[in-house]
Amino acid sequence: MLPQNKKTWAHPLDQMNKDWIAERVSIVDLKRIIKNIIFKQDDVSWGPNNQFKFPLYGGTGGLFNKFMPYVKDNLQLNRKLAGINLDNKTIKFTDGQKMDYDILINTSPLDILVNMLSPKNDKLLDAAGMGLEHNSGHIIGVGIQQACPSNKCWMYFPQGDSPFYRTTYFSNYSPNNVPKGKYYSLMCETSFSPYKQVDKNITELTLQGLENSKLISNTDRNDIVSTYQLDVEHLYPIPTLKRNDALRIIQPYLKKHDIYSRGRFGGWLYEVGNMDHSVMQGVETVDYILSGKAETTWKID
Ligand SMILES: Cc1cc2nc3c(=O)[nH]c(=O)nc-3n(C[C@H](O)[C@H](O)[C@H](O)COP(=O)(O)OP(=O)(O)OC[C@H]3O[C@@H](n4cnc5c(N)ncnc54)[C@H](O)[C@@H]3O)c2cc1C
Repeated sequence: MLPQNKKTWAHPLDQMNKDWIAERVSIVDLKRIIKNIIFKQDDVSWGPNNQFKFPLYGGTGGLFNKFMPYVKDNLQLNRKLAGINLDNKTIKFTDGQKMDYDILINTSPLDILVNMLSPKNDKLLDAAGMGLEHNSGHIIGVGIQQACPSNKCWMYFPQGDSPFYRTTYFSNYSPNNVPKGKYYSLMCETSFSPYKQVDKNITELTLQGLENSKLISNTDRNDIVSTYQLDVEHLYPIPTLKRNDALRIIQPYLKKHDIYSRGRFGGWLYEVGNMDHSVMQGVETVDYILSGKAETTWKID
């Protein structure tokens, strides 16, 4: 597991806690393994996410577009939060506009949020500096004009001959993720951080890594019809040893000021930071605010 974890987290493993494992790594069923060995049978569909749903249309965004009819009248997009005044409960956007709030639910990264608070709070800033660390990522999409050679969804790559720790056949999630006809697509994720630098030429490194991993051959390169690069500053909230201590300082302070920070980087709990978790965090936060019902997805002891 060490090579895979080093490659994925881009963070010194001895500075991470193991609390995230229970929720995110499939627990080995020893009896099942022994049975499979005795009966010499392959057993690929195990673990909590061996089945999942994905929108037929609209890619990942298709999930969230379904929320649109319910929220569209109260939705303002493409405005960037620049500051929060805790004393008079106003927020300010980068375009200079201000807005009041009674209760604020935040999903922007918590490390940035604490820097936007006014008055400044050194204890919070120190806590964030001490315990909130993240890695970043280069996401490379590759479109290939061929029938998809595999029925797999995603695969992990601990080896050193590819930059990516994971590659996904995104076209296997829905045929509508690629044009009609013989096309398939790959999404290759490479992490980086101050602890792990990545060469700038990441697209070429990724294509070479795909060859080295035998996902494509050199001649398949002739059929590559598109590549796409997305750089993500906040990729994984690292479960560092001091993360929970930091959250125990930051979150109660925010709550005292009627701010609830939830979601992947708002709540900063990797183990409950996937899409399904993040949506449930929103649902439960609103339930808590409206009826006092305790949240179960986002919580720190
Ligand atoms: C490459 C990749 C692959 C992934 N694959 C999966 C997967 O297969 N399954 C899965 O469940 N999850 C996956 N995830 C994780 C998934 O994207 C997150 O769990 C989910 O998006 C978290 O939702 P969220 O609302 O908490 O945060 P986000 O979706 O990050 O939303 C936060 C929002 O805050 C906005 N924001 C930030 N700062 C400001 C500001 N100052 N002012 C205004 N707005 C601001 C951002 O623009 C963003 O829209 C993946 C993520 C990546 C990057």
